[in-house]
Amino acid sequence: MRSKIVAGNWKMNKTLKESKELVKALKKSIKGFTLDNTRVIIAPTYVNLQKVSKSTKKSAIEVAAQNMHQADSGAFTGEISAAMLKSVGVKVVILGHSERREYFGETDALLAQKVDQALKNKLEVIFCFGEVLEDRKNENHFKVVESQIKNALFHLNADAWPQLVLAYEPVWAIGTGETASPEQAQEMHAFIRNLVAEKYNNDVAENVSILYGGSVKPANAKEIFSKKDVDGGLIGGAALNADDFTALIKAI
Ligand code: PEP
Repeated sequence: MRSKIVAGNWKMNKTLKESKELVKALKKSIKGFTLDNTRVIIAPTYVNLQKVSKSTKKSAIEVAAQNMHQADSGAFTGEISAAMLKSVGVKVVILGHSERREYFGETDALLAQKVDQALKNKLEVIFCFGEVLEDRKNENHFKVVESQIKNALFHLNADAWPQLVLAYEPVWAIGTGETASPEQAQEMHAFIRNLVAEKYNNDVAENVSILYGGSVKPANAKEIFSKKDVDGGLIGGAALNADDFTALIKAI
């Protein structure tokens, strides 16, 4: 059975002190919750991964990295490898975030390599994709999403899929306050699940969690999360505040 997931991407926010404070508040606020088939994941910046990973060890909170390099090691100044992430207790990595694609030129081909590298190192991948506003306006959104998924993931065998979580994030809804309607989210998630079923089989498709991301907040989460093929959210802004993030966990 696929899990429900609430994952917080902290992006380039929170110093060490602020990260510790947020983790402390989160741990306190989710204590006593029954997280029935629900996973809570947070993704701090690289420099705070080790501390956060240590301080969440005995809690229900899992820690993810926001990115990772595709090579094992070497002369790649400023980059971080899968082995380094694992060495500080990280088991999950976000790949393909639209900000990585837009500001750092990450292509589907590069992301396919990163996915392979993560899986080879037994890291679970939260794989992000989604159309820009122009694609949506031109009704190209299904085509764009299909090609992003095919190009980066469809070379994988079915047995790799339990290590994948998909995150549909329409770029026009990220950090803009504009959210896809629950119906738009459900329509795309059903399309994605069907795509996976056609390529692999129903079992693979039914067992992969598909998260929605894009301006999810306490006020709109319940309706979005209630949709049949929406298995939770990848959260940016609202993950930076313990009360809001806790409300999202409660909404699932
Ligand atoms: C994100 O960056 O993945 C995201 C969904 O951000 P926000 O929730 O702020 O729109």
